[in-house]
Amino acid sequence: MNTTAPVSLVTGANRGIGLETARRLAGLGHTVLLCARRLGDAERAVAGLAPDVPGVLLPRRLDVTEDDGVRALARGVEADFGRLDVLVNNAAVNYDTSRRAVSVDLGEVGRTLDTNLFGPWRTAQAFLPLLRRSAHPRVVNVSSESGSLELMAGGTPAYGVSKAALNALTRKLADELRAERVLVNAVCPGWVATDMGGPGGGPVEEGAAGVVWAATLPDSGPTGGFFRDGKPLAW
Ligand code: NAP
Repeated sequence: MNTTAPVSLVTGANRGIGLETARRLAGLGHTVLLCARRLGDAERAVAGLAPDVPGVLLPRRLDVTEDDGVRALARGVEADFGRLDVLVNNAAVNYDTSRRAVSVDLGEVGRTLDTNLFGPWRTAQAFLPLLRRSAHPRVVNVSSESGSLELMAGGTPAYGVSKAALNALTRKLADELRAERVLVNAVCPGWVATDMGGPGGGPVEEGAAGVVWAATLPDSGPTGGFFRDGKPLAW
């Protein structure tokens, strides 16, 4: 499948901010690999969006905790497109507002890190060879103000630590890839009314806007930053 359109991959895109990000990127004409843990969820999401967008939406199965699955998808994208232009690491779990760092079960913390930190890390590693073949490679790590050390308070321990670590990973990757012109940024979507965010947050359109901004930065754009709505956030 040869395409001159940008090829974008969004993890956890069957619902919430990931789904809206996939919709927006397809609306910009990207070929979007809409990924979900279950292929059926990805297929249903694509079927729900497809009539509305000019780009191509392709459903793909991806559980970011599975090494073999992530590598297999990278091989598939290589076979289909030979490159990847945009990687949006959106999938995350466990906004653990009822937990405290003094008592949280560390097994739960480990499972949270496996998705929220190691998920983006293993996905970035697996797709880096394909990103390096892009003329304008972008990586967006969907983070949270919960991961800001400057604002860090007690509570939400597994989630907050996972996002602080994701921010650190963002800076590591950005610095190591700066010379290769791969722009890597962390984005907080703000409080959004999704299954994770719960009622009271803003619409997904607003949350996804900053993610799409970072996914479509010009070559002169920033790398190694932490942003909300395109504006820097405190680390
Ligand atoms: P959401 O509605 O709960 O959606 C999370 C998505 O991640 C779902 O598609 C889920 O798939 C997927 N996912 C979970 N574990 C996965 C795994 N192992 N492999 C692949 N996909 C997996 O959450 P959201 O509110 O859209 O959040 C999206 C991102 O924004 C997250 O990184 C979150 O931390 C961040 N964020 C959200 C808010 C907010 O207020 N909503 C605020 C700050 C940051 P299933 O359907 O299979 O579970």
